[in-house]
Amino acid sequence: MGIKRFPEADLHCHTTASDGLLTPYELIKAASEIGLKAVGITDHDTVSGWSESIKAGKEFGVEILKGIELNTEWQGTEVHILGYEPDQESKQFQDKLRELREARMKRMLKILDRLHNMKIDISVSEIKAIAKGESVGRPHIAQALIQHGYAKSIKDAFTQYIGAKAPAYVPRFKLAPKEGINLIREAGGVAVLAHPGQHDLGKFIQIWVNEGLQGVEISHSDHTPEEERQYREISRKFHLIMTGGSDFHGEGRKMGVKLGGWGVSYDVVEQIRDLTICSRKKAEWN
Ligand code: AMP
Ligand code: FE
Ligand code: FE
Ligand code: ZN
Repeated sequence: MGIKRFPEADLHCHTTASDGLLTPYELIKAASEIGLKAVGITDHDTVSGWSESIKAGKEFGVEILKGIELNTEWQGTEVHILGYEPDQESKQFQDKLRELREARMKRMLKILDRLHNMKIDISVSEIKAIAKGESVGRPHIAQALIQHGYAKSIKDAFTQYIGAKAPAYVPRFKLAPKEGINLIREAGGVAVLAHPGQHDLGKFIQIWVNEGLQGVEISHSDHTPEEERQYREISRKFHLIMTGGSDFHGEGRKMGVKLGGWGVSYDVVEQIRDLTICSRKKAEWN
């Protein structure tokens, strides 16, 4: 027996299927090299990274938790919902994801238009070359801005051009948290609130619990120890599962965020798998 690594599982990771820099294969290979036992693949609005991850997981001995991240909106604030192990075959689930990705495309075109009005010309084909998967996001546009010399870093590109308070910002179509939770639950998955500390969402958690929320992400690269404590307390109060992950997007996409730097012990993976059974039964009942 080797030394037990902690965390054993990083349940929040992005790949080239959305706005991560590593392919699913590269991500899982890296996870095995640092001794992770399980990895959650949680790309934005797409499950297209799952099959390659599972294949790589078999090769490298890493267990894959199939996930998704939906960016929903509540009273003008971003609320990200993670879904674990929804049924890939669910038509309703796949149709909605397709709709969300199409909205991403349209919004990307609008952002390029706004940049054009600012005398910054970035072509659709350039974005296509950067975004290797089917879910286009602002980090891809940020990368193009860096390549053209308009921004020093991703963060700088968000501050100067495409962040919520910047001139080329275009809001994206978003579901309400309740719709995101339902979408995941009806596909038999487990619905978890991602990084609530980013927007101080503690006071709303009870509302979402009543709508079917089953867990809260406690360990996360943006959370302070005080936030972790606060959300752990709320989770205990409402009997929610406590998950965790780095939100790794690749070296350099988010400074200081390392794969496996945040996460949970392996038993949380088992807790999530147990809960999917509840969601499946609920989905059958409806
Ligand atoms: P989108 O999904 O297109 O709205 O883009 C949001 C994504 O951009 C998030 O998932 C993060 O990966 C990234 N992001 C958001 N805000 C920032 C920021 N200020 N600096 C760097 N990356 C950011
Ligand atoms: Fe992202
Ligand atoms: Fe997020
Ligand atoms: Zn994320």
